[in-house]
Amino acid sequence: MRRPLVAGNWKMNGSIASVDSLLSGLSQLKMAKTVDLAVCPSFVFLQQATAALTGSGIKVGAQDCSPVSDGAYTGDISASMLVDQGCALVLIGHSERREYHQEGDALLAEKLATVVTLGLAPVLCVGETREQREAGDAEQVVGEQLRGALMNQSSLEGLVIAYEPVWAIGTGLTATPEQAQAMHAYIRNELASIEGVSANETRLLYGGSVKAANAVELFAQPDIDGALVGGAALDAVEFGKIIDAAA
Ligand code: PGA
Repeated sequence: MRRPLVAGNWKMNGSIASVDSLLSGLSQLKMAKTVDLAVCPSFVFLQQATAALTGSGIKVGAQDCSPVSDGAYTGDISASMLVDQGCALVLIGHSERREYHQEGDALLAEKLATVVTLGLAPVLCVGETREQREAGDAEQVVGEQLRGALMNQSSLEGLVIAYEPVWAIGTGLTATPEQAQAMHAYIRNELASIEGVSANETRLLYGGSVKAANAVELFAQPDIDGALVGGAALDAVEFGKIIDAAA
C-alpha cells in the first residue's frame, strides 16, 4: 500500500508575519498518522518553516532548485543549500516554472539527478494545457514530460509525481475524479516502462484546485495517492480538512 502524501505549495506568497501565523495554524492540526505531510514555502521562509515544524511530522520542501552545485550562479539556490536548511523534498518542473522560466525536460532531468544524489525527494510535476487536452494530446504531452525527465537517471530514489493539469491550476476548475484517475493510471503504466522506477510504489499526487470539497472524491480513486495543494494550502484549517480526506 502506498502511503498518501499531502503537500502544500505556497508559491510566491507570504510575509514573515503571515507565514508565522500559517505555521502556528498547522502546528495546531490534529495530524493523521496515516498520511505524510509537507509544505513548500518560498526559499526565504524555509528556515522559519523548518524551525517551526521540526518534530511536527510535517516535512518542509522547496519549490525549485538549481541543477548545479554551489558556485558562481547569482540568484540561484542549490540543492545542497536546501538540504542544509532541513528540506526533505523539492518540486521539479512545476508548470509555472515551465511556463515563466522556460524550463524544459533536459534541464529538469539535470535538476532531478542533482537532488536525488543529495537525498532530497523530487516531486516531478507534469501536466497538459487546456489546448493540448482539447486537441486530444494530453497523454502524449504527459508521457513526453515523464520520459524526458526520468529516462537514463542513475537513481530515482524517493520519486513522487504530481499530475497537475495546467488548466486546473488556480482556476477553480478541478479535473473530475474520472479524468484525474484516467491520467494517473496512464502515468503509472508509463512509469512501469522506465528503468529504475517502481511504478507500483511511486506516489502519484493530483494537483489543480484541490480543496476540502473535492478531496474525498479525488482520493477515493485507486491511482491517486494524495495531492499537491496550492491556494487551499494557505489556509491551515482548509489544509487540515484535505489531510483528513486523505486519512
Ligand atoms: P492550486 O495550485 O491548488 O492553487 O490550483 C496547485 C499547484 O499549482 O501546485
